[in-house]
Amino acid sequence: MPRYRPGKSAAQAEAEHDLSSAVKLASNEHPFPPDPRLVEAVAASAAGSNRYADHLATELRHALAAHVGVDVERVTVGNGSVGLLQQLCLAYVDPGDDVVYPWRSFEVYPVFTQLMGGRSVQVPLAHDLGHDLDAVAAAVTPDTKLVFLATPNNPTGVATSVDDLATMLSKVPDDVIVCIDEAYREFVDPRFGDPVTELVPRFPNVVVTRTFSKAFALAGVRIGYGIGHPSVVAMLDAVQMPFAVSAPAQAVGLAALDHRDSLLATIPAWIAERDRVVAELRGAGWSIPDVQGNFVWLPTGDASAEVALALEQRGVVVRPFPGEGLRVSTGSHEENDRFLDALRAIAADTV
Ligand SMILES: *Cc1c(COP(=O)(O)O)cnc(C)c1O
Repeated sequence: MPRYRPGKSAAQAEAEHDLSSAVKLASNEHPFPPDPRLVEAVAASAAGSNRYADHLATELRHALAAHVGVDVERVTVGNGSVGLLQQLCLAYVDPGDDVVYPWRSFEVYPVFTQLMGGRSVQVPLAHDLGHDLDAVAAAVTPDTKLVFLATPNNPTGVATSVDDLATMLSKVPDDVIVCIDEAYREFVDPRFGDPVTELVPRFPNVVVTRTFSKAFALAGVRIGYGIGHPSVVAMLDAVQMPFAVSAPAQAVGLAALDHRDSLLATIPAWIAERDRVVAELRGAGWSIPDVQGNFVWLPTGDASAEVALALEQRGVVVRPFPGEGLRVSTGSHEENDRFLDALRAIAADTV
């Protein structure tokens, strides 16, 4: 089995390298704690923890349906969006079935595929580190049950437009489920389009997954959602572990939707920080793809493990993909400066 590798914590790096302080830019988390109104929602809900929560998260489904503008039958809620990705595999993948996805991409796709005894069909990324959608469509065969497409792609950060997705979907049979994984939706330039309004009504095999983990600073609470055809939603619900979505997770999801606009008001500044990091890296001669998430792909190639270690020794934890590159989350202004300074120092050391 391939294992899912979580990012190393700052505390772990401090202990390993005997540092007084380290910063974690390894898991695409929000650099700041959640808004007090969200913390309050979790605390209030915790007081009722003697009772099981609503297994179907009915109230949250209704709120999400109103928020995205679809019927409630098209909405499901999961233990993080990763929970829904696993449910897609549980529902649709039997031993020997193919799961098609671009690679390199999100590391749970191979894990969940193999967990079902499925076969991973990995399609190389295009030259710009985005998806080669013609090759994805061509990789779909009668053995294919499921396609995963992350936009923006994790770890490269390159987004895919709804128009390009529609062209690909028109070539894929409608009994193949296509999951559009939009974990970073809130960071993406709107010109890429909205798969929920533009693809879900047209393609009954499309399911879009989204999450409160990244933009709403709630990664530790585990709450994500999916939008798709009612029959796909029913399949996902059929295989969900009982009470997978905790009461605090449901409560905080409702609170996040209630205060959505003010909570997301900080996103433009965060995107501006990402763009500042990209501009500084490009200015230093790095070739950085057109990233749309809250993270940057640094193509360090064969030096990736070595550069990641050198950054860690300077107190900056990033996510290495040995032989390929580094994924660096966009943190606070100070954290990003610390990363840029450390990278400059490493570059100076090696010349
Ligand atoms: C972070 C991430 C997820 C998400 O996570 P949950 O915390 O489980 O909602 C899903 N897909 C991709 C591509 C991600 O990077």
